[in-house]
Amino acid sequence: MADCVFCAIVRGDIPSSKVYEDEHVLAFRDINPLAPVHVVIVPKRHVANLNELDNLSEEEQLALLHACKKVAKICGIEESGYRIASNCGRDAAQSVQHLHVHVLGGGQLSVNMA
Ligand code: AMP
Repeated sequence: MADCVFCAIVRGDIPSSKVYEDEHVLAFRDINPLAPVHVVIVPKRHVANLNELDNLSEEEQLALLHACKKVAKICGIEESGYRIASNCGRDAAQSVQHLHVHVLGGGQLSVNMA
């Protein structure tokens, strides 16, 4: 998608702090971190959010899930703990309309998920 910031990051048109990459996904540091470790994982192919998950192949879907634990390991928070979250739609305040999973950790996280 031409006007999608995450597609631009995947293309390399916008710089990012890359944490992990494979054939299907790219993971990079969030520009506005909400935790000591805050990484965003995106599928390389554009889909808007979880509602469009079926537009990705099963291989791409699995790559997204597996990338969560890979990122946690790379960032050294595998044992200390981490949270994954994906905001979907207006009420979740999704601000970038390209499916992404947040990986948060590196310190005690709030128990308040809402
Ligand atoms: P969400 O609010 O769930 O849609 O999350 C979008 C996330 O993308 C926010 O946490 C932003 O800080 C992050 N973000 C937006 N633009 C960039 C960028 N250029 N590089 C890294 N993270 C970004």
